[in-house]
Amino acid sequence: MGRTLISWVSEAWNPIVGCSRISPGCKNCYAADLPLDPKFKKLWQYQAVKKWDGTIAFVKKELYRPFRWRNPRTAFLSVTDIAHENVKRHELSQVLAVMALTPTHIYKLLTKRPVEMRHYFQTLTTTELFKAALEFWDEDLISKRAWRSVKELERYFAELALPLPNVWLGVSVENQDYTWRIDELRHIDAVGKFISCEPLLSPVNLSSYLGICPGCQSCDFRGGHRIGKSVANWIIAGGESTRKKSDSRPCNIDWLRSIVSQCRQADIPPFVKQLGSNPVQFQYVQGNLLQSEGDNLILPYKTKHRKGTDENEFPIDLQGCQILPDYHRVLATVSS
Ligand SMILES: [Zn+2]
Repeated sequence: MGRTLISWVSEAWNPIVGCSRISPGCKNCYAADLPLDPKFKKLWQYQAVKKWDGTIAFVKKELYRPFRWRNPRTAFLSVTDIAHENVKRHELSQVLAVMALTPTHIYKLLTKRPVEMRHYFQTLTTTELFKAALEFWDEDLISKRAWRSVKELERYFAELALPLPNVWLGVSVENQDYTWRIDELRHIDAVGKFISCEPLLSPVNLSSYLGICPGCQSCDFRGGHRIGKSVANWIIAGGESTRKKSDSRPCNIDWLRSIVSQCRQADIPPFVKQLGSNPVQFQYVQGNLLQSEGDNLILPYKTKHRKGTDENEFPIDLQGCQILPDYHRVLATVSS
């Protein structure tokens, strides 16, 4: 029989809050606006970082939350960049220690600062994680576990192997200028790796990172066949969305199509999250491209949903492209 399917509940988990803008993808950062949202007005951590100037808030209380999740979840740190220069190393290590102690959940860490991320993971040790765990260790809160005592905790970390099997690392690539971030990702040891092309601001060719031939003699320079291993196991793509629709930079649906097609060539799952608030499309006549980019005949692609997240409104060939990675298969591939 086939594999058991687990339906993963995804969860925003934010023990670290705050960031600052570093590249074009950050321009309309949704997280930067959260402090103004009435829902977050009462949370000190959002008010502390509201200038979005790189001030970082560490929310120790949040560290205990994953211990209370009963079923496996996928958690995403959504309002920070863990590799931001102002994130304190001993605090980040506490976050990683929680991940190490809750191996049934999958954690996804996305960065626009892969050099710093690489440095952190290349120098991380299990001893450091153990010491970090001692900083939040609280018998009353975490005692109903196999490791009830500090001694058992120490043993747990001593037996732990890095990289952690439940931590996925990713980099943002919003346009072709930032594909270098994937080069850094390539050199970080992680069980699962992903690329986030969101907000997608231009066409992006990832072939050299996905092990796809750009064109050689044996394929008559058509390209597209696999010639090597892909750096990433998963790619997320989506257009930009903003509160005010007109603030969004346009995303051409063909850019999304191209990413999906590259994923297929590399045999990795794509996840088309949304078309964005301002999707546009080229004009085709009988399957032939009528206009090139830059022409004023690129037309808006209308959706009812403000962010274009309703998959039923996607062009038919982009439906069914919201695929999650097979976390267990990736882990099995790495450990075999
Ligand atoms: Zn070829």
